[in-house]
Amino acid sequence: MLLGGFLKQSFSDYPGKIASVVFTKGCNFYCKYCHNPDLVRLSGDTINSDYVLEWIYNNRGLLGSVVISGGEPTIQKGLYSFVSEIKSYGLSVKLDTNCTNPNVVESLISDKLIDYIAMDIKAPLELSRYRDIVGETFSNSSLDSIRKTIDIIEQNDIDYEFRTTLLKPFHSAGDIKCIADNIHGNYYIQKFDDTITLQDIDNACVVDIQDIKKVVNRCSNKSCNIMVREGY
Ligand code: SF4
Repeated sequence: MLLGGFLKQSFSDYPGKIASVVFTKGCNFYCKYCHNPDLVRLSGDTINSDYVLEWIYNNRGLLGSVVISGGEPTIQKGLYSFVSEIKSYGLSVKLDTNCTNPNVVESLISDKLIDYIAMDIKAPLELSRYRDIVGETFSNSSLDSIRKTIDIIEQNDIDYEFRTTLLKPFHSAGDIKCIADNIHGNYYIQKFDDTITLQDIDNACVVDIQDIKKVVNRCSNKSCNIMVREGY
C-alpha cells in the first residue's frame, strides 16, 4: 500500500464511530477540484504502512473503525491484505471510492472485509459530463464500471452512501435530480472545499450551503434520501 496521509483520530469520517483515516496515494482520476493534490500527483512524503497498522493495532481500543480514503484506494495492489489485517483487529472499515473498480469492491464486500462504502458520483453518468470533471482519460468503459459498482453496492447487504461535491458551473439542480433518479439510498450533497485544489478553480465555483439546501429541497425524490452534508 502506498500511503500519503494518516489521520489518527477523526470523529466525522465514519458515521457514529471514532475512526483512523488512511489516505492512499495515486488516483485514476484527475478531478479539477480535488483537494488532495499531493496524493494524486504522487508528490510529498509517503507513510510506512507497517507503522500505520502497528499504530492502529496498539490503539484499537480507542477506535471503532478505520476509513480507507485517497487518492483512489481500489487501485492499490495491497488493499485486500491491508483491509484484512485491520478487520482482524475487530474494527469496522469504511472505503471511500470513485467506484471505477467493481471487482475490487465486490471481493471486499463478499469476503465481509468492509462495512461501509462512500461512493463519489462526480456528475450525471454521461461520458462528456464526467470528462469535464475527471479528465480526458475517462472512457465509456469507466462509465460502465461505475454503473456496475452502483449495482453491486445497492444489491448487497452493506451500509453505503453516495455523494456529490457541488460546484458552479459544473452542476445544476437538474444534474442532482438526474443522479438521484438513478440511485437508491442515502445521497449526500457536499460543499466544494476551495482551500487547495488540483487545478486552478475560481472561488466563484463554491456553492454556499444555503443554496445547496435549496437545490436539495427542489430535488426530493422517492428512491433516495438526498441530504446536505455540512462542514466540508
Ligand atoms: S477527488 Fe478525484 S482526483 Fe481527487 S482523489 Fe478523489 S477521485 Fe481522485
